[in-house]
Amino acid sequence: MPPALIFDVDGTLAETEELHRQAFNQTFAAAGLPWHWDRALYRRLLAVAGGKERLAAFVAAQAPERAGEVDIPALHAAKTARYTQMIAAGAVTLRPGIARLLAEARQAGVPVAIATTTSLPNVEALLRATLGEAGPGAFAVIGAGDVVPAKKPAPDIYAHVLRRLAIPASACIAFEDSTIGLAAARAAGIPTVVTPSLYTDEDDFTGALAVVSDLGDPQAPYRHLAGAGAGDGMVTIDTLARWSAAVEGRRSP
Ligand SMILES: [Mg+2]
Repeated sequence: MPPALIFDVDGTLAETEELHRQAFNQTFAAAGLPWHWDRALYRRLLAVAGGKERLAAFVAAQAPERAGEVDIPALHAAKTARYTQMIAAGAVTLRPGIARLLAEARQAGVPVAIATTTSLPNVEALLRATLGEAGPGAFAVIGAGDVVPAKKPAPDIYAHVLRRLAIPASACIAFEDSTIGLAAARAAGIPTVVTPSLYTDEDDFTGALAVVSDLGDPQAPYRHLAGAGAGDGMVTIDTLARWSAAVEGRRSP
């Protein structure tokens, strides 16, 4: 049986971080807050996973005088509303190879799931906008947002998804785009394929099963960056089964 597939969302399914950044900035302006997150600052802020947590970390570090007056959950809810509107308006597309691999998985009867720190409304909006109304239903489990208290790099969201799938970690493959996502999946024992994104191209991906520019498509093969997959050009259910078997082979004496 090929491995089950568990996907991160932001940066992995789609390059969403620029939209998140714009939604944060529009929300600050609408609330009369004098904050603007440029790309360099946002890159640093991404070290904290989860929008609410990121906002709280920013206020604590850079605007402590406002800590008492800013309602972080309310501000984050306003940002989520803006973000889901932008997504629903078609502001984002899936990264190369994602739709193809999901279709292959459905054909092969391979379970697919999501493990993300982003809010459930964000995930559902993205899946509907890119895969159609039935998009969210294609996933056996969607682990999102505050369902577990400890966000990535803690393994909790992956452990939650594994429990719900009732599939062992070694029979799954995770897809991530960042160091903290890779750390979360690895801590849960899941071999991980990394596709670096706009904001994570300088991250450290030591320990990844494979690092490739994207999942690749027949007309546009991926660039191999590290680990398994040199010369394959495209991540398919068959290549994943092969890479997964190689990991198993190394584990058993
Ligand atoms: Mg990500």
